[in-house]
Amino acid sequence: MKIPDFLDRDVLNPVGFDSRFLKKGIIALGTVLIMLAWCLFLFQVDKNKKELVAGLEREQQNLAGVLAENLFQILEQRHTIELFASKWFDGTKSPSGDITGFLYGERTFTRIVLYDLSGRSFYESSPGSGDRPDKIREQIEKMLGSGQPVVMPRDNRLSNISWQVPFLFPIGIGAAVKGAMLLEMDFGYFLNLLQNIDIGRTGTITVQHDQGEEVARFESGGLVVGNSPVKMMPAGSISGVSGFRDGRYSDFGNCYLTYLRVHDYPFMITISIGQDEFLSDFNQYRNRLLWVLIILTSLGLSGIVLLFKMINRNQAYLDALALFNQENQRLIQNLEKEHKASSRAASFDPLTELYNRNLFISLAEKSILQAKRNKFCYAVLFIDLDRFKKINDTLGHHIGDLLLKEVSLRLKMCTRKSDIVSRFGGDEFVVMLTEVARERDIATVVENITAVVSKPCPDLDGHEIITSPSVGISVYPRDGEDIETLLLNADAAMYKAKKSGRGQYRFFDPSLNTVSVEKFALEQRMPSAITQGEFTLHYQPKVRLQDYRVVGLEALIRWRHPHHGMIFPPDFIGIAEETGLIMDLGAWVVEAACRQLNNWRAAGMDLIPIAVNVSPLELKDRAYANRFQNILKQHDIPFKYIEIEVTENAFIDDRDIVINNLKALFDKGVKIFLDDFGTGFSSLEHIRFLPVNSLKIDRSFIQDIRNSYHDNPIVSSTITLAKKLNLTVVAEGVETSDQLISLRVAGCEQVQGYLFSRPVSENKIREFIISPVRKI
Ligand code: C2E
Ligand code: CA
Ligand code: CA
Repeated sequence: MKIPDFLDRDVLNPVGFDSRFLKKGIIALGTVLIMLAWCLFLFQVDKNKKELVAGLEREQQNLAGVLAENLFQILEQRHTIELFASKWFDGTKSPSGDITGFLYGERTFTRIVLYDLSGRSFYESSPGSGDRPDKIREQIEKMLGSGQPVVMPRDNRLSNISWQVPFLFPIGIGAAVKGAMLLEMDFGYFLNLLQNIDIGRTGTITVQHDQGEEVARFESGGLVVGNSPVKMMPAGSISGVSGFRDGRYSDFGNCYLTYLRVHDYPFMITISIGQDEFLSDFNQYRNRLLWVLIILTSLGLSGIVLLFKMINRNQAYLDALALFNQENQRLIQNLEKEHKASSRAASFDPLTELYNRNLFISLAEKSILQAKRNKFCYAVLFIDLDRFKKINDTLGHHIGDLLLKEVSLRLKMCTRKSDIVSRFGGDEFVVMLTEVARERDIATVVENITAVVSKPCPDLDGHEIITSPSVGISVYPRDGEDIETLLLNADAAMYKAKKSGRGQYRFFDPSLNTVSVEKFALEQRMPSAITQGEFTLHYQPKVRLQDYRVVGLEALIRWRHPHHGMIFPPDFIGIAEETGLIMDLGAWVVEAACRQLNNWRAAGMDLIPIAVNVSPLELKDRAYANRFQNILKQHDIPFKYIEIEVTENAFIDDRDIVINNLKALFDKGVKIFLDDFGTGFSSLEHIRFLPVNSLKIDRSFIQDIRNSYHDNPIVSSTITLAKKLNLTVVAEGVETSDQLISLRVAGCEQVQGYLFSRPVSENKIREFIISPVRKI
């Protein structure tokens, strides 16, 4: 069994979705994307920072260059003073005049003192205090030792102004040094030049001595000189002439620093700015970017989490679906098994594995449909095993079952594949022989069955058993057109076979139904048969030749006798009349016809009148017309829908009563048919005075029609005269198309007979009501 498409996992998940792969894919893609974004961010930040710092470096170097050059120029002026001092040493001239003039134009130097090598001063531009010669000499020696200018220690300084820094320079070069000169430089003046440069909050510009001592410093707050020494550059930390560093070089934490040595002098310019300050804009920008990235990352991560949840939910759904499908499949399989088992149980006899009653009937019905289209004979055999009950009772059910199995095998052996072999239960077997060429072939098959089944069964669990079949046969269509009738009749025939002794078979024979033999029994049973529903109506259509429409039905009673099968009216109407039961039977027929009409009405079908046959005895009862009307009223059936068929002999005795009854009904609109017309005494002349609407020409006249209507002047003259009397004419017993043609030519209006349909059960007649009969 295939799972319905809508439950199929492949339909729901056509690409074979596997959530594990999808999850891995999403993780990989997500990670790569996030990492890429972060790398890009870090790379970009680093690049920007580097560019920024490189710009700073350039700026600082430019400024340091300018300052160093400036300082160099200032210091170089010492040569002029040296020149003035040399003249004093030569004894040619006192320097005081020249130096005074020099100082006049030069603001950078605030004081000049000249010493000989012993530390004694021989010139002072302005008087100083505390220039102790021994200290001076110490410094001079230090200067001479290093060959470098010396910054005078603070305690030895003359000026109180801290940014005025004294230097000691030699006068003369190398061995020719004659003395020393003290130049007090005003760094305030020098660094004030920088006032217009924005060095920032943490920015510093310093002048440092070679030894690492800070000489002067310019900060955002202004000039700072002689502050704590060695602030910026640890001694010896700087190598080379110039450079750019970042590191911890000031009170402001990490900073960027550029240094540049003033050439020819032991001085150095440093320019620095705190990293925090310098990078603050950049950091802000970086932090903004960082936040954006963090938000994007967390969005991405939550997206992934969400996706995971969705995938998980989808997976859970698919899993549930798969489970549901499995469960469904299991249920379907179970159902199928059960269905197989139950349909087998419903169709087969579990013991013999032959068809059971249900399946036999449906198969036999199909065969009958085929039979209608061919010329073969079809027979139903009702087979009963003689002495079976006794065998069962004495030897036990087990042996009984074995015997039934053996018989079923033998029955199969004796029949063809196309025959239908079944067991109805107990020891009742029913076989339908299909497509038998001649009726006598049926007898041959049955004789063979009787012979084979009668052979001893040598070893049924140690017992030798002999049985024989009693077979009743009904033949389609002679003994019935439907399977029910055929079964009833075959059963009845079997009943007779059994009575004739063991191992006998009998064909059903309606005429020799030997009801006379059973007359007494039928008489006894009839009252209860009416109440117990053993009677039934079959219907035969009346066809209007003008358009081949069914314009009426004749209701014909049948007795479904439990032992004799279907019994036909000629076999029991007489008994009913003799016993007076005809009154009840007649009333039952009218009622049954009314019920039938009501059923059809309820089924939404158009109603067609039903004609009932009424016995002369019934019409002799004065109350008949009233009773009839009451029944119709009770069932709410209009009078035009129940018609009456009476034979001519109804008018022989008690003529007035009969006519009154019929007249009463006739006047109400109940149609009266004169049945079996032509067989009785009445001439057409006579009929003129009877309450009659229609004549039914007896089938004996119709049978006589051969090739042309000239063959039977009675029929044609009857038709002509009846028309003159305004009576419709119905021909009964029409069996051949020749008869039909003759009747048409003779002007007959309606026909009834086997040619169109035998009398059939209620189910079968429905089709005739719904559609016109086929034209012949
Ligand atoms: P009927 O009224 O003449 O009914 C027509 C009989 O002819 C029916 O026989 C019918 O089966 C048979 N028949 C119809 N067409 C053909 C055909 O083409 N060829 C031949 N050979 N026969 C054909 P059925 O049903 O055996 O009825 C026999 C008679 O029993 C009826 O003769 C009718 O007089 C009487 N009968 C039937 N039903 C009732 C009933 O309910 N009450 C009374 N009182 N009598 C009934
Ligand atoms: Ca009739
Ligand atoms: Ca008739």
